[in-house]
Amino acid sequence: MSTRRYAVFGHPVAQSLSPRIHAAFARQTGIDLEYTAIDAEPADFVAALERFAADGGGGANVTLPLKEAAFALCQHSSERARRAGAVNTLTRNDGHWHGDNTDGVGLVRDLTDRQGLDLRARRTLLLGAGGAARGVAPALLDAGVEELIIVNRTPERADALADALGEPERAHSRYWESLRDEGDFELIINATSAGRSGGHLPLPSTLTNSRTLAVDLSYGEGAIAFLAWARSVGCRSVVDGLGMLVEQAAESFRIWHGVRPDTDAVYAALREQNAILVTAD
Ligand code: NDP
Repeated sequence: MSTRRYAVFGHPVAQSLSPRIHAAFARQTGIDLEYTAIDAEPADFVAALERFAADGGGGANVTLPLKEAAFALCQHSSERARRAGAVNTLTRNDGHWHGDNTDGVGLVRDLTDRQGLDLRARRTLLLGAGGAARGVAPALLDAGVEELIIVNRTPERADALADALGEPERAHSRYWESLRDEGDFELIINATSAGRSGGHLPLPSTLTNSRTLAVDLSYGEGAIAFLAWARSVGCRSVVDGLGMLVEQAAESFRIWHGVRPDTDAVYAALREQNAILVTAD
């Protein structure tokens, strides 16, 4: 049987750990595959994906800033992708792309199964309304968070995400400028890409209490600024996005190959080399 071809598309994407993670899963499960990183600007994304399919590409992950565009090009999509309005996992079937979103299940698995945290009844603040925020928001509601407040630099995108979630009792958008009046939260999730570009998030210390869990979906250098803020204002637990990265990849791998890899060894190896931080208690 010929080597199966997979890739992660994004812009930029050169630093992506996904090729290493999928190579490790492939070794573990004995599946012969090639997984590469393909840089595609938003304007070129559809054409690049079609070239990949023409060259035998069977599946792709999609990362920033392409997840909403990936959703728009899918002929079929899973319920969780439709709820998110964003796709991070594409599978080629009968000449069409099928879209799924594994970000939400990846985050919740990392926080609950690996870090042993209970998300239920936590008043939650979600920073950002891009592809990643769209992926994790439905999963957070399903995991039982009490209330989900969404703020975004471009407020219209936060409004659109809150509307799409369809749970007006629990999920609302707010203006960033009004955060000082919103009280405190037991869970704060940074789903912005601000840390990757050195951007500063204006966050008042009144957002946290002694139970607050702060999570940055970024890892490595991109997570430093937000997690340093979280520690400086006394958050109880501070988690970066490395575990989510491995878990969402495992779920994509299961979709493509029908086998769920063991994530613990892969996570431990990456953590050794990306020791930014995880301090869940
Ligand atoms: P998108 O490009 O789709 O969205 C970026 C988001 O960040 C938007 O909400 C944008 O706001 C906001 N933003 C960007 N710069 C700033 C800034 N300077 N100040 C305030 N807000 C800002 O990216 P994704 O949603 O796909 O990814 C977001 C982050 O999550 C990335 O760092 C990515 O690496 C990480 N991620 C991690 C995963 C994991 O498995 N650990 C999985 C997916 C993502 P606006 O709408 O105003 O532009």
